[in-house]
Amino acid sequence: MQGKIALEEHFAIAETLEDSHGYFPERVWQEVKSRVLDIQERRVAEMDRHGIEMMLLSLNAPAVQAIPDPARAAAIARRANDFLAEQVAKRPDRFQGLAALALQDADGATRELERCVKDLGFRGALVNGFSQVGNAETAAYYDLPQYRPFWAMAEKLEAPFYLHPRNPLPRDARIYQGHPWLLGPIWAFGHETAVHALRLMASGLFDAHPRLQIILGHMGENLPFAMWRVDNANAWIENRHGWPAKKRLSDYFHENFYITTSGNFHTPALLNAMLEIGADRIMFSTDWPFENVDHAAIWFDACPISENDRRKIGRDNARRLFRLGN
Ligand code: MN
Repeated sequence: MQGKIALEEHFAIAETLEDSHGYFPERVWQEVKSRVLDIQERRVAEMDRHGIEMMLLSLNAPAVQAIPDPARAAAIARRANDFLAEQVAKRPDRFQGLAALALQDADGATRELERCVKDLGFRGALVNGFSQVGNAETAAYYDLPQYRPFWAMAEKLEAPFYLHPRNPLPRDARIYQGHPWLLGPIWAFGHETAVHALRLMASGLFDAHPRLQIILGHMGENLPFAMWRVDNANAWIENRHGWPAKKRLSDYFHENFYITTSGNFHTPALLNAMLEIGADRIMFSTDWPFENVDHAAIWFDACPISENDRRKIGRDNARRLFRLGN
């Protein structure tokens, strides 16, 4: 398919480059490093080769979220956003931006989101899970009350918010002890991010801000498979949920969430997601440079779905959500 739009596509700046190092053995680090630092050359060639018209770019992970000093986190986010705006300006027909935000300081992040959307023309934000605030052992999740003014601004700006994975803090990762291979994209990323998304749904955030739109990568971080059980476990017990939100959590999943195909190029998973959240809320992405563009695109272009759905997932949903036609 020509004209695809991809939106979980990362770059690094010098200050955040090393954050990606630990996920890769030394024998492939030079390759990852050259991919993540490049924007205008090899990346464009990969896009041309595989029918990707546009990438929405975002900073690598965990980057800003893992800088406990709020002032330094804000400075790095601002530097990354200014750099991204310069890169987008060189090829606005091929690249658009998603803001990095230092949610260590909710007020500062609110102002930076507004600057990025209004002054830099960014289309939304991509944030790498919880933020460490003040010290490395403190994790702030965005269902907490101090983030409500931030969410009000995201809703007002109609800025979609991509909740991107990171690993849990060591204190919350004891179940993985002795099994380091479970960390990262194999398992821990998805679990950590799904729990964060369920916290947002259950908190009542979307009752207060019903037009907010959250995006999850990796075919929804396993949630399409899990949402029925979230709502229906022990259905014989009255009033059993105990969450502050007014509705079933799958109602919010269907109304306030989109998912992407990043890093999950598997037809049975896509078909399950189409049945659960619908083809109108799934968008193509690759997760370059950590996954391959060819792996994503060759699979997607040939997977057995209708051409109408391929068009929606490959292009039209993203154009509508991010108002890319304007
Ligand atoms: Mn990613």
